[in-house]
Amino acid sequence: MNFRKEIWPKSAGDAASMVFTLIIVPVIYWFELWVVLPQLFPPGSLLYLFHFTLGTFILINIVGNFTYTVLCDTSTRSMILPVSKAKMREGWRFCASCEAMAPPRSWHCQTCGICILKRDHHCVFTGCCVGYFNHRYFLMFVLYLFIATVYSFYYNNHFIWGRMEFHFPMSIIKMVFPLAFSVFGLDYSMDQFYLMLYVISIVGMGFTGALSAYHFHLVFTGAVAHERAKSNSRYNLGWRQNVKDVFGERWYLTWILPYFESRLIGNGVSWRTAAPWNEKSKNK
Ligand SMILES: [Zn+2]
Ligand SMILES: [Zn+2]
Repeated sequence: MNFRKEIWPKSAGDAASMVFTLIIVPVIYWFELWVVLPQLFPPGSLLYLFHFTLGTFILINIVGNFTYTVLCDTSTRSMILPVSKAKMREGWRFCASCEAMAPPRSWHCQTCGICILKRDHHCVFTGCCVGYFNHRYFLMFVLYLFIATVYSFYYNNHFIWGRMEFHFPMSIIKMVFPLAFSVFGLDYSMDQFYLMLYVISIVGMGFTGALSAYHFHLVFTGAVAHERAKSNSRYNLGWRQNVKDVFGERWYLTWILPYFESRLIGNGVSWRTAAPWNEKSKNK
């Protein structure tokens, strides 16, 4: 894996989203395992230990996949070819911003300031682009966030509605404006803070659920975000191959932990296509 040299966010929006992610993930983890869990299961019991271990496993996957997404260099930096040589290759294009030839499926990112291999999109929560080499980590980061929020949602309901009484319409107002009640001093109680975390994780569940569905659908169809408009991606090689192309040779291990190595089949530069006239068969 090539490491990015500058990992700091390059725009105010990126910085704010990254700071939010870096604060909210540990805070929710603390809330679930140190506040909610001991209220629902006696500390030291088998179920307590089970949920504590599972919760920590999910956190390690969120943090690990986030870190790998951020650290992994998926730009064209190491792939730059002299204009004359690259011109000979099919599908390459000249990027005026990079003043270099860039391979097919790469796309220039204005925020990152470089072309990204098989660029999917620029993610504000990681402050970097998602492309060929870090796609796997980004997908697992989003999926584990979704799993974490669904898991939390189930137990949070028991916790919140076990200790707070539901009064209409005040409870609804407190849930819709949890931050206002905490910040403007209308309610400084821990319960209001817990309610705020409860609402944030519900919003997070909806958001990461939609993101997971959207991005995994793209993976299965062999496309990246900006190719989706085309009716059928020419890179769609069938869902099995598409999954392998993103998750690597040991794709079945990638969900366990980001630290498991799974070598990518391609190089992010040349592509097999579904059409018989693809570049590989042409070169044979
Ligand atoms: Zn470029
Ligand atoms: Zn970018």
